[in-house]
Amino acid sequence: MTARLEQLYREALVWDAHAGVFPSPEVDLNLLDEWRQLGASYVSINVGFDVMDWQDTLATLAAYRRWVLEHGDRFVLAGTTADIDRARADDKFALSFDIEGMNALNGDINMISLYHALGVRQMLFAYNLNNAAAGGCHDADSGLTEFGRQVVREMNRVGMIVDCSHAACRTTLEIMDESTRPVVFSHSNPCAVWDHQRNIRDQQIQACAATGGVIGLNGMGIFLGDNDIGIDTMLRHVLYVSELVGTQHIGFGFDYSPDIDVDIGVILRSRPDYWPAGQQYDTKGIRHAGPAQLPALIDSLADSGFGDDDIRGFLGENFRRVAEHAWNA
Ligand SMILES: [Zn+2]
Repeated sequence: MTARLEQLYREALVWDAHAGVFPSPEVDLNLLDEWRQLGASYVSINVGFDVMDWQDTLATLAAYRRWVLEHGDRFVLAGTTADIDRARADDKFALSFDIEGMNALNGDINMISLYHALGVRQMLFAYNLNNAAAGGCHDADSGLTEFGRQVVREMNRVGMIVDCSHAACRTTLEIMDESTRPVVFSHSNPCAVWDHQRNIRDQQIQACAATGGVIGLNGMGIFLGDNDIGIDTMLRHVLYVSELVGTQHIGFGFDYSPDIDVDIGVILRSRPDYWPAGQQYDTKGIRHAGPAQLPALIDSLADSGFGDDDIRGFLGENFRRVAEHAWNA
């Protein structure tokens, strides 16, 4: 990395739109120090997903929230982009919470404003399988239900980022049609580069960009390629999306989890309904790119001709723009 790019990285807002830490009240959130030490400014960490009971999501949210508030010397629970700016000025790391799938609502629309009040700023509609709100990417695409439409409107009202990752194609197009604020795919890669049911088609990428939204590059080797986290492979995904819709619609949502005592393969094989056969989930030793790969990626983005403003956009300014429209009243 040249001194100039090092300085750009040091001074840039670095936004990771989704961490892949397995949500549980038992998780030691000191693991967030890894993002902090690598120069990241903000991460969204999930407190639940459809595989869990909604009560366990609430318990995880309660535990994480208490931990972050008790560690205010290093961490800030961000509710607005101004909170993130303040955290950076004070040399602290900002985070907020996301939930992967609407099972966490237990069928009750009032849960959205409750989650918002507790620090959740981004919600996904379905986690791989269909639920009461939406169709999942590994299921027969049931589309957005009437309840799902109410959910989009309520998220727009309270100020939460509408996130289409893990949902099925037609469903995501219906979500984007319903939303009056920008929509994201926080951690999804283009199908055209690596064909996988978790990845997204050109039509979805174009519809997302049309809302003013952003697609976050997922660092999981099985969504990038054949368990491939090479910088050239990551670059191919960024180049593809940028040629299709422009540089202002790309960010990072690495889906990364630090090396804790959780074997991702054991989890994935334990629920073949949510992580079905034929989708590489049985890959031994799934590899994972995360914020540690950012300096090398920035280097190759600069070598490919992207300018400083494009790179700052990828690193965080693009997601920040979405959050300003989605969170702030
Ligand atoms: Zn996910």
